[in-house]
Amino acid sequence: MSPTPPNGSPTFSVVVPLFNEEVVIDLFHQRLVPVMDGLGESWEVVYVNDGSSDASLACLTRLQERDPRIAILSLSRNFGKEIALTAGLDHARGQAVIATDIDLQDPPEVIPELVAGWREGFDIVYAQRRTREGESWIKRATASAFYRVMGKLGGPVNLPRDTGDFRLLSRRALDALLTLRERHRFMKGLFAWVGFPAKAVMYDRAPRAAGSTKWNWWKLWNLSLEGITSFTVAPLLMATYLGFASAFAALVYGVIMFIRTIVFGNPVPGYPSLLVVILFLGGVQLMTLGIIGEYLGRIFNEAKQRPLYIVERHLPSASSAPVAAPGAPARDALPPE
Ligand code: UDP
Ligand code: MG
Repeated sequence: MSPTPPNGSPTFSVVVPLFNEEVVIDLFHQRLVPVMDGLGESWEVVYVNDGSSDASLACLTRLQERDPRIAILSLSRNFGKEIALTAGLDHARGQAVIATDIDLQDPPEVIPELVAGWREGFDIVYAQRRTREGESWIKRATASAFYRVMGKLGGPVNLPRDTGDFRLLSRRALDALLTLRERHRFMKGLFAWVGFPAKAVMYDRAPRAAGSTKWNWWKLWNLSLEGITSFTVAPLLMATYLGFASAFAALVYGVIMFIRTIVFGNPVPGYPSLLVVILFLGGVQLMTLGIIGEYLGRIFNEAKQRPLYIVERHLPSASSAPVAAPGAPARDALPPE
């Protein structure tokens, strides 16, 4: 892999989405700088302000005055981590790009190992968690259940376990990833989908340095559903099988009733069983409708063809392309065909 940057673009870009993280920005940057400097090549860090309502943006601009290797991409509102990360990746100019969270749960000290993998020739080097310090056993258990379910339903995409968005992508893997412009973005799945030679690096996931997690159970549940429904139509199949199964059960039950009526006469005992069957089938039908609706909703959202995000302000790192005018639509406004 030749790390020769074309026309002034840095060798490495670190992409960091953040939302209301004023308390950790300085801390993160202080830890990042020595690590990146230690690599001995040019680098930039793209901070994506995902519509923070605290002083995060001011904090970033203050940092940028002191360190011109900082690029700031400020989105017009909160779009969610997956889209903020995509926005950052869109604007990263490096030959290898490293995606990481800002809360120091992904220790910057792991980056040299990721880079070593890239120098060996791997296109995707992902950091896999050895431990999950500071996370409740419930979170660990549900995470593990999710990877299992995804593994079973996922089909062609082999989702690495215990892996977040913390990883390095080569330029060609990143370019491939950026051609996937779907609105429902399950990044872990998309990373896996593009393929290319990949390598895992083990690391210990630290507890959050400061601030609080932006995820709650409801969001995590939805992310899991997102993961499943954006990568597989298995739930639709489930509806079909449920239909077959209940039709078959009804047939068997019908035969039994028929024989009972012939042999024992007809004492009309049916009311409770009738109600159970009606309620069961009603439930199954609503559930099935819900699943179909989930996919229909996706088609609806994709059909609108909206840009993934809107950039409010883009302050590139030094020695780079012209600054986009405030309010200018994201580069994404013209979706690549
Ligand atoms: N984040 C973001 N937009 C959001 C929510 C989170 O950019 O709407 C960022 C957040 O600032 C952090 C990263 O995504 O850098 C991971 O978020 P968090 O640490 O809250 O998630 P957890 O590590 O608990 O899964
Ligand atoms: Mg975190």
